[in-house]
Amino acid sequence: MPKQLEKIMTNIRKTNLPTKNDPKKPVAVWKDKARNNDRPINCLNIILRTTGCSWGRESGCTMCGYIYDSTEKTTVKDLKKQFDIAINKHEEQTKYIKIFTSGSFLDDEELPQEAREYILQKTSKTGVEILGVESRPEFITKDKIKKAREYIPEFEVGLGIESTDNQVLNETINKNSSYKEYKTAIQKIHDAGGKVKAYLMLKPPLLTEKEAINDTIRSIKTVAKENVDKISINPCNVQRGTLVEQLYNKKQYRPPWLWSLLEILKQTNDQPTNIISDPVGGGKERGAHNCGECDTHILNTINHYSLHQEKKYLDKPECDCKTKWKTTLENEAKSHRIYTGCK
Ligand code: SF4
Ligand SMILES: [Zn+2]
Repeated sequence: MPKQLEKIMTNIRKTNLPTKNDPKKPVAVWKDKARNNDRPINCLNIILRTTGCSWGRESGCTMCGYIYDSTEKTTVKDLKKQFDIAINKHEEQTKYIKIFTSGSFLDDEELPQEAREYILQKTSKTGVEILGVESRPEFITKDKIKKAREYIPEFEVGLGIESTDNQVLNETINKNSSYKEYKTAIQKIHDAGGKVKAYLMLKPPLLTEKEAINDTIRSIKTVAKENVDKISINPCNVQRGTLVEQLYNKKQYRPPWLWSLLEILKQTNDQPTNIISDPVGGGKERGAHNCGECDTHILNTINHYSLHQEKKYLDKPECDCKTKWKTTLENEAKSHRIYTGCK
């Protein structure tokens, strides 16, 4: 099965990889609020256009289309220019900067050391309290974390752990890393004084809604034992050029219900770490959604919870579609799966 998934993803990539994205402009820059040290603070989000995730370029995870934002080639000069454009949007009250590369900030091929140090140096001059980045586990070394910490008081590494179940990682996501590798990475980051934000994927393809809820709850409890600093639940959304999109087009995949996300937040509120979620495409057909009537209300509840961690509002939302969601949990057939071997 894992080899079969790997092959499917390799074929999908072959026909979709981009060639024309401008290496001199960042993919996106925007501001919002995010939680850090138990309070909401202003945040500047930056997506740099790099050559993208090394695994995503070769084959990649079944739900991930971020590689299509990448470019074939960048130079250190391009990357510095992109960062200059983005950091210009920083304002004094912004205390959190998140840099995404649609890949790994700590991969020297994707972001050469010279560009990384330039970014760290410029970020340190903004007076932010925390810089968040993302990386696959194989690129994480204690030296790189220590280096970053010379510039920034808090350096947070986001790890796309997705699930702590290796069967889910191999047979539905094609992650090409095991949970053990993530555990080692968590240890290295903590040993070097960094912080860890663990991303978990709610409802990768080939799981029923109920299996997906159970997998995320189990994963939250397992990851929380490693004393990670934050857990972010990413409900799967349908991205272009992915296996998830192919299944969605054949009506063999529905993104998770927002009720499922709410249920997970309720059941894990006692965990010793902040649990947050900012569903990409939430309320839309290709993102986590309910019936359309109650989506905005539930998304606001989730957003409020992510910023304030107040459990009392999680029970408030009600809508007739909850019955349909419950029926789905009870009756969803497993026959829609195209692969055997999944749990
Ligand atoms: S989910 Fe992460 S590891 Fe997987 S292909 Fe996308 S960027 Fe790479
Ligand atoms: Zn509804």
